[in-house]
Amino acid sequence: MFKYPCYCRKTRSGAEEGMNFTSYMPDALREARAAAARDEVPVGAVLIGADGRVLARAGNRTRELSDPTAHAEILTIRAACAALGSERLPGARLWVTLEPCPMCAAAISAARIETLYYGADDPRMGGVRHGARVFDHPQCHHRPGIVDGISAEESRRLLQDFFRERRDGCNYTK
Ligand code: ZN
Repeated sequence: MFKYPCYCRKTRSGAEEGMNFTSYMPDALREARAAAARDEVPVGAVLIGADGRVLARAGNRTRELSDPTAHAEILTIRAACAALGSERLPGARLWVTLEPCPMCAAAISAARIETLYYGADDPRMGGVRHGARVFDHPQCHHRPGIVDGISAEESRRLLQDFFRERRDGCNYTK
């Protein structure tokens, strides 16, 4: 029987990436803060091409666009693919402040993104380490490298502050 590789073993922490590590997480966090200022859930993403160029950056825009798929990751993938005229982004690296949900994880796989760097874990909605664990599924034919826990504390704090403010102001009903 064909055995799929255990993806967990490939996981590295940000610190283990070493000296040549250029972090785009500050840019992704900036996009997340800009999303919060637009009253969107503060998640930000930056997509880097195989040549090291920034292909796209985005924060969530689900409310603004009335589009449940307008997550930061999807918006960067759409913009980069449109700009390059390709449905695949081999060699690309995606930086996102929060563990991607199952929809975004599937899009990351479909776009053939090489490496996913993310900040905070998302036990409630995440689909990489939690829930659907999209990349661990036998039907997943492209698994990106994963580096997690980058600026996780700052990412988490942004989300907590965002939801606390809405809860305290009774604007957020859930
Ligand atoms: Zn998502």
